[in-house]
Amino acid sequence: MSLFNKAIVATLPLVPRPLVRRFAGRYIAGDKLEDAVRVVKALNNRGICATIDILGEEIDDRDEALAAVEAYKKVLAAIDAEKLDSNISLKPTMLGLKIDKAFCRENVAAICDEVKRYGNFVRVDMEDSSCTQDTLDVYYALRERYDNVGTVIQSYLRRSLADCAGLAAAKANLRLCKGIYNEPRELAYKDKAVVNANFSLLLDVLLDGGCYVGIATHDEKMVWEGLRAVYEYGLERDQYEFQMLLGVDAKLRDTIVAAGHKLRIYVPFGTAWYAYSTRRLKENPRLAGQIFRNIFVKYELT
Ligand SMILES: Cc1cc2nc3c(=O)[nH]c(=O)nc-3n(C[C@H](O)[C@H](O)[C@H](O)COP(=O)(O)OP(=O)(O)OC[C@H]3O[C@@H](n4cnc5c(N)ncnc54)[C@H](O)[C@@H]3O)c2cc1C
Repeated sequence: MSLFNKAIVATLPLVPRPLVRRFAGRYIAGDKLEDAVRVVKALNNRGICATIDILGEEIDDRDEALAAVEAYKKVLAAIDAEKLDSNISLKPTMLGLKIDKAFCRENVAAICDEVKRYGNFVRVDMEDSSCTQDTLDVYYALRERYDNVGTVIQSYLRRSLADCAGLAAAKANLRLCKGIYNEPRELAYKDKAVVNANFSLLLDVLLDGGCYVGIATHDEKMVWEGLRAVYEYGLERDQYEFQMLLGVDAKLRDTIVAAGHKLRIYVPFGTAWYAYSTRRLKENPRLAGQIFRNIFVKYELT
């Protein structure tokens, strides 16, 4: 990252929230469930499936976590009623992971009951490294009771290779991504080439173990690694998928779909957009740079 981009990222907290919201709009379907339904319908019409996420994380109030369970039930009902090609993704800390692991497990289980009733699927997102082991514990506990649940592996984490061995043995359904949180060097690879090499290695470990993998990346090199693996393992279209985030690289997305692969877009909605949006903007300092230019233009005019 250039010094200028580093400076932009460091000063993001000073940017007025309405401005961040405007620029982050491309990554978020909107505030309401209707917004997510509209976006998913449009994606489905282009042959792209989705996973709907309700924005929110790091909840420390039990009632808020219980409200999130009810909100996810509404999402599942809407997917069913509108006949959407979409599953759901959730953040464990929104369901109470930081309050109490057992409480979180029961909340996610309540969602899993609905997921099972609708014949759908739920993916438990992976948050920062303080959550990794607890998230895997919740995942393994749920797998004893439910089939339609998966989780996420991050290739920047040094522990992921060992985690993948266990997950492969459990024939887990996994999303493989690089990882988005700022982790210390003792826990995470910092060299992009190593993160990429590990992505490729983990993909092989998981596919060797017979896992279904969602290859989640916007990096052409990692998409190519996905294509290589699909070829080498002789995978049929229903044995893997590519995944991308809403608002990122529509050209790459359309290219993957045109080549006949299944592609799923992560569609977040809700009012708790700030943490999600700033993580996205930190990944794309060029966009953050536009925000700053906007501030200065405004300043000059007023
Ligand atoms: C479907 C999906 C789900 C995810 N779930 C998780 C999760 O549960 N836990 C987790 O830690 N991480 C998650 N991530 C984020 C992931 O870990 C990476 O941080 C993110 O995808 C960027 O890595 P990359 O593979 O796209 O490669 P990069 O090398 O970072 O990016 C490749 C290219 O994509 C472009 N790009 C990347 N991000 C953006 C952006 N926001 N705006 C514009 N261009 C961009 C870059 O400019 C670059 O050219 C998820 C990603 C996806 C696609």
